[in-house]
Amino acid sequence: MAKIAKKVRKSEVAGVGCWIQFAGLLAPVVGYSLAGESGAMYGGALLLIFLVVGRVKSVRWICGNCKNALYSKSVTCCPACKYELQ
Ligand SMILES: [Zn+2]
Repeated sequence: MAKIAKKVRKSEVAGVGCWIQFAGLLAPVVGYSLAGESGAMYGGALLLIFLVVGRVKSVRWICGNCKNALYSKSVTCCPACKYELQ
């Protein structure tokens, strides 16, 4: 019988996602200095994308049993301890 563990959602405060969001904040500024107002507009659009991507990246899933990091939320079996994940 398969052993069952819970998937644990873990958000990282200082992870990759945070850096992506930080980089996104610079996009309008860099855009403006390169191409004026239209550059700032493109930078603003880029900022939105960065914020969304950063948000997705800042949430991690780990195995509730062995705390191993999971590739994604859709993983159904822990690669480390082989527990079935819910
Ligand atoms: Zn595990």
